[in-house]
Amino acid sequence: MKSFCFTVDVDRDANIPVPGMSQAGSYNRGLGTAPRFKSSAEGIGTLTGLLDEMGVKATYFAEARTLSNIGAQHLAGREVGIHGFDHEDFTGTFPPGGKKEVLSKACETVEDLTGKRPRCSRMPYMKMSEEVPSVLEEIGINYDSSKYQLMEKEILPYNLGGVLELPVPVSRDVSDKKIVGYLWPMHEGKRPPEDYIEMASRLENGVFILATHSWHMSECIDGGSFSKHAAKKNTDNVREVIAGILDMGFAAETLPEAAEHFGVR
Ligand SMILES: [Zn+2]
Repeated sequence: MKSFCFTVDVDRDANIPVPGMSQAGSYNRGLGTAPRFKSSAEGIGTLTGLLDEMGVKATYFAEARTLSNIGAQHLAGREVGIHGFDHEDFTGTFPPGGKKEVLSKACETVEDLTGKRPRCSRMPYMKMSEEVPSVLEEIGINYDSSKYQLMEKEILPYNLGGVLELPVPVSRDVSDKKIVGYLWPMHEGKRPPEDYIEMASRLENGVFILATHSWHMSECIDGGSFSKHAAKKNTDNVREVIAGILDMGFAAETLPEAAEHFGVR
């Protein structure tokens, strides 16, 4: 049995950590690092449109501030988890109880906007400190995807201090170069869709997770906003990756569905 979880971090455009602040900014294109949301707002429409067209269910990790800015209209009826409130680094310094406060506030905001209590999470920057899993459990999060795991023939969900962890794979490509289950390099024009399909082909049992960002459908770090042509090519690439993986017999599922399938709780 092979399960495929497509995951989307719905966060501020081209986000970067800002020194001395827990809130993330956006990549400086000459006007400073204040957070921007335009590409994320556009990109989530493009992605949900594509996934609906393909009949593929996905899991969304919504950063609370971004979701408040762009609205949740594209996310109705979908599996929406949390991704920090202001895209914080949860390995950073917080006041006592601060991590729980921020994560609870993120849950409440996402619940207010989507009408559904989140049950999944991904930490911003995939950075999680030791106490985070128990905090997540306390606030009602059951499923997390904030860890990387070396790709083997089998990748199964596992228990991580109170939550069920579904890790993002890391592997080596045919040229022995490191490849991660994030589509980032493909959006930046540095990897073709085939690389991710080849990576998935090595899984024989378990859950293959791919991740991307809503904003990466509308802009890239290197070139800024995509032209119409570049945006279409980018969307076609995502379609090609997903279709290639489904062609190999993977079932597209949300995180909770995949966890259920493998009988771990
Ligand atoms: Zn993020």
